[in-house]
Amino acid sequence: MSDLKVQFASDNTAGVCPEAWAAMANANADFVPSYGEDRHTQEASNLFRELFETDCDVYFVFNGTAANSLALASLCQSYHSVICHDSAHVETDECGAPEFFSNGTKLLTAGGPHGKLDLFEVERIVTARSDVHYPKPKVISLTQATESGTVYRVDEIRALAELAQRYRLHVHMDGARFANAVASAGASPKAMTWQAGVDVLCFGGTKNGMAVGEAVVYFNRKLSEEFEFRCKQAGQLASKMRFLAAPWAAMLRDGVWLRHARHANALARRLGGELQKIPGVRLLHPVEASGVFAELPDGYHEGLKDRGWRYYRFIGGGARLMCSWKTTETDIAALVGDLRAVAGQGSA
Ligand SMILES: *Cc1c(COP(=O)(O)O)cnc(C)c1O
Repeated sequence: MSDLKVQFASDNTAGVCPEAWAAMANANADFVPSYGEDRHTQEASNLFRELFETDCDVYFVFNGTAANSLALASLCQSYHSVICHDSAHVETDECGAPEFFSNGTKLLTAGGPHGKLDLFEVERIVTARSDVHYPKPKVISLTQATESGTVYRVDEIRALAELAQRYRLHVHMDGARFANAVASAGASPKAMTWQAGVDVLCFGGTKNGMAVGEAVVYFNRKLSEEFEFRCKQAGQLASKMRFLAAPWAAMLRDGVWLRHARHANALARRLGGELQKIPGVRLLHPVEASGVFAELPDGYHEGLKDRGWRYYRFIGGGARLMCSWKTTETDIAALVGDLRAVAGQGSA
């Protein structure tokens, strides 16, 4: 078997981007106060407030599952429910952590094409029941960019948030790939979040190029009350907080986060374009962010596997191919070359 090629298996198979790496080294120089009382944490939090042009509350946690779960728990009582897409990470990939950290809040799933919540289906779920036997809807959770590599437009977020407001629900945004969404939509971070009605955003740093760390950003500051206690109890309060915060500051300074996201998106678009030229290959979703979802004929997956390629097929059965800050044209040429070879053998 050839060497494993995991370049496209996830955006977290890439290492740490140079800016985040340098920030870790820089933060390593001195003794600084622990548990977030340091200047790096202060600076990173201020940079978030500048970026979103509002006085938001910011918390740093280790990973996305914790960010989502703790944020959702802060919006709910245990008898409430959260409405999310049926492909949502909180539903399919967090091992029940949102339910666990909220002491039993139920996730209710809605459909919708290309990973986006269908507004009418959400409303149907919200209004289905109001009796005491049903978990009372309290939150709409949307993923931006979606698990299918698409991006909600600002008007789509607004429509969901207006629905939420009508029924007194909160709006949570899983932004593990928020950077890719902003880079794709060309809308400002504030237009895509609090101005559209988002209460809390889990802003992903890891897939954008950091070693570790996601930021939980509360635009509705009433909802962040005692959030630090949730973080601590869940084992998500970093004592050496500076190593989460300093890389964030480096990412947010001079638009590094956007540059990396634009790069990943551009290469995904390119990969999508190349794949479409190969006979039998069909894109399952529009390529709007850093992911390409492709349906391949029988046998192609096996052929790629034999050539060492590894990627996931858990969303819709096609190949999920993720690009990152580190993906190169050479990586794309290698994959496309092997796929062409596989396709050639198939038709021979
Ligand atoms: C990667 C990802 C997360 C975070 O996952 P962790 O492995 O817990 O960091 C959250 N939501 C989405 C949509 C993701 O793709």
